[in-house]
This record gives sequence, C-alpha cells and structure tokens, in this order.
Amino acid sequence: MRRIAIVGGGQAGLPLALSLLDRKYDVTLVSNRTPDHIRAGKVMSSQCMFDASLQIERDVGLNQWEAVCPPVEGISLTVPHPEQPGAKLIDWSHRLDHIAQAVDQRVKMPAWLELFEQRGGKLILQDAGVAELEELAATNDLVILAAGKGEVVKLFERDAARSRFEQPQRALALTYVHGLAPTPEYSRVSFNLIPGVGEYFVFPAYTLSGPCDIMVFEGLPGGPMDGWKGITSPQEHLAFSCQILQTYLPWEAERARHAELTDANGILAGTFAPTIRKPVLRLPSGKLVLGLGDAVVVNDPITGQGSNNATKAFRVYLDAILARGDQAYSEDWMNQTFETFWHYAQDVVAWTNSMLMPPPPHLLNLLGAAGQCPPIAKAIVNGFNHPPSLYPWWGDEQACEQFVGEKMTQAVAA
Ligand SMILES: Cc1cc2nc3c(=O)[nH]c(=O)nc-3n(C[C@H](O)[C@H](O)[C@H](O)COP(=O)(O)OP(=O)(O)OC[C@H]3O[C@@H](n4cnc5c(N)ncnc54)[C@H](O)[C@@H]3O)c2cc1C
Repeated sequence: MRRIAIVGGGQAGLPLALSLLDRKYDVTLVSNRTPDHIRAGKVMSSQCMFDASLQIERDVGLNQWEAVCPPVEGISLTVPHPEQPGAKLIDWSHRLDHIAQAVDQRVKMPAWLELFEQRGGKLILQDAGVAELEELAATNDLVILAAGKGEVVKLFERDAARSRFEQPQRALALTYVHGLAPTPEYSRVSFNLIPGVGEYFVFPAYTLSGPCDIMVFEGLPGGPMDGWKGITSPQEHLAFSCQILQTYLPWEAERARHAELTDANGILAGTFAPTIRKPVLRLPSGKLVLGLGDAVVVNDPITGQGSNNATKAFRVYLDAILARGDQAYSEDWMNQTFETFWHYAQDVVAWTNSMLMPPPPHLLNLLGAAGQCPPIAKAIVNGFNHPPSLYPWWGDEQACEQFVGEKMTQAVAA
C-alpha cells in the first residue's frame, strides 16, 4: 500500500486525503487545528465555488451541504457614478449557467476532518515545520504540503517570473451577516467596483447558524476602505462595514439596513501578497515535498478563485497520483503534475491580477458594453466558472474589440 502524507487540512488537502483513502492509499493528514478549534474560530474565507469545482466535489462524494446551502444564481456588476452621488455608471447582471455555492469553511473542514478519521485515516495534530516534514518524508512515499497561507509554505521558493506583485494589493475584510435583503429575480454575487476606493461584493452562503450573506471588502491600501486596523470589536467591524456602504454604495446600504453579524467570529480583516511559488521543496535530507493549493498559488480573493483553484488542483494531483501506480514520485513527476495544473491556473492568475490594476480602456469598454449586450455579460459571468474562457479577449485589446463586435452582432440578430 502506498503511503502518502498531506500537511494541511483545508480546501485542497482534505478532499485529496479523503479521495486517496477511498482508493485504499495509506494516508496521514497533519492539521494544526482540531475540528472543534476550527468550528470555534474565525471565518477564513468567503469560499464561493462555481459549478466546475462543485462538480469535482460531487464526483468524489464531498457535496454534503448542497441541499442546505442557498444557491448563487448570477453575478452583477455595478460602478457608482463618479460625479452623481447615488447614481450608477455601470449596472448589469446575468445568470450563471449553473449555480455557485459558498459553505463556510468552519462548517466544511471540521466535518471532513472527522470523516477522515472515521474512514480510518491517520490524523496528526501538530504545526508542521522542517523537522516534522523530514519525519513524514522518511516514512511516506510522497509528502504534500497544502498548508494554505501558513508560515511553513514560505519554505517554497517564490517564483519571481510568475509573481506579479511583491506587496498586498488590497486590504481585505469579511463580514458574515443575517438579515440582508435579497436581490430581485435571482440571487447573485453583487459586485461593486468603486474606482480609487476598492471593491465590495456580497452573496448568499451557508454558515454555522444556517443561510447567511457574506460581505467582502477589498480596499485599496491606504484608502478609505482600508480602515480595519484600529477596530477592536465585532460590532465596530459591522458598523465600519455599513459605513462604507452608506458612503459609497447607498443601494447596498439599503439592503444591509437590518443586517446583524451571524456570530462574533463571523468577521476577518487582513492582507497578503498574491504569490506563485516553485512547487517542489528539497528538505535538508534531500527528500522532496510537493506543494498544493494556496501554498504554491495564492491569489487575491477579488475574483473568488482560491477555493476553486484548490479544488481543481487537488483533482489534477489525484489523477496524477492514481496514474503513477507504483512508480516513484520523482522530482520530474512533481514538476509535471504542477505544470498540468498551471496550464489552467495561469489564466486565473492573469485575470485576477488584472482586476487589481486600474482597467485599461478595452476592459472599460467591455464592462460597459456588457450592460447593452447580454451575450457579453453572459460570457463574463460564466468566466468565473472557467477563467480560461475569458481569454484571449480579456487580456488583448484587439481580440477584445473583435469579441465585443461579434457579440453585438449576435445580440442584434437574436
Ligand atoms: C478574504 C478572503 C475571501 C476569499 N473568498 C474566496 C471565494 O469567494 N472563493 C474562493 O474560491 N476562494 C476564496 N478565498 C480563498 C480560499 O479560501 C483559499 O484559496 C482556499 O481555502 C485555499 O485552500 P488550501 O487548502 O490551499 O488552504 P486552506 O484552506 O487555507 O487550508 C490550509 C490548512 O493548513 C493548515 N496549516 C497551516 N500551516 C500548517 C502547519 N504548519 N501544519 C499543519 N497545518 C497547517 C491551516 O490551519 C489550514 O487548515 C478567499 C480568501 C480570503 C482570505
């Protein structure tokens, strides 16, 4: 029986551990938190997952919350008018072809950790560092490090050629609430882009106390939305969230009039720099460790892709491990496995990074045109499910012009 150790029980590590266990691998999972610790802790993400990722979870039998989690049926984009307070410069929405869902990781990860143990997996509770990785590498055929944004992932070398930023690009905050007014017609990610200030998006989700909405704030560093540092209580966090909406997005403030925190831990504030790392770590003994998920590809949450990436990456790694049979997990195999995922992820990273920069004219034109032309809105909205579908037109002025022209013609002919 092949022995595989996975460090990090998150969105990437746990589904891989459970799937390998199902296929009779001898799996050890190292987590630095117990299920109860995670349940009683702060929220970690807004974790909105689109259909392709949800399908991967369905395929491996890890869709336990599908029936209780409210669906996200579409996406809207609103840009406030810079000169007319309360008016909107851009305002459109479109349905997704298939729903998205967001299950609080405080619900998901503890349940999966418990399932892992119930199914006979070996759970080690420790904060793994080099010594623990060495121990795992000495006793396993393969060690995978999927420790998210944990300090230990800095052992992987930063890939300067693939990392566009050295500093955090947004001040991030989450506010989980009950009592938000629903959107008309269909539920959605309501994405608001406030030039020079940042972005705010909000969507239905499922948390410890049932259905809720998650507010996500992406403030430009040093700007008016970057005001979380001095906040000391959950109520102050909620009050600052509502103050931002009242100042810049009155239509969202109106929806949030009766909003209350889901719980005192339904808040988060922080920053990190989007970073790509080289996927293979050589330990002092010469043994190798393969990186998975945020450990090696961490994006800003502005496009909501991290959990989706973690899931798609785990599927690539699972398939590669199964295809490897009894052969050694060599350095070449590790690099190839990562490159198979990178072939997909490079567009996700390019798209996400582009959203962090002031939009070039062709993107402003595209986002404006989507308001007049539903086929353009449809293509953008469904790009969240599979970002490579946004290329080449998202990144290239000429291809974008051609794309807009084709879709406009299509809309007129319909
Ligand atoms: C504000 C915010 C909003 C987000 N919104 C979205 C969204 O809407 N959609 C989306 O797809 N993604 C979103 N993400 C990103 C998403 O949550 C992550 O990309 C995803 O959870 C990554 O999965 P992972 O398994 O790589 O890491 P994680 O899920 O972070 O899991 C890593 C695990 O490793 C553990 N660990 C760390 N160090 C050690 C150690 N030394 N030893 C043992 N265990 C360790 C951690 O405690 C954790 O349990 C968001 C992130 C943030 C910060």
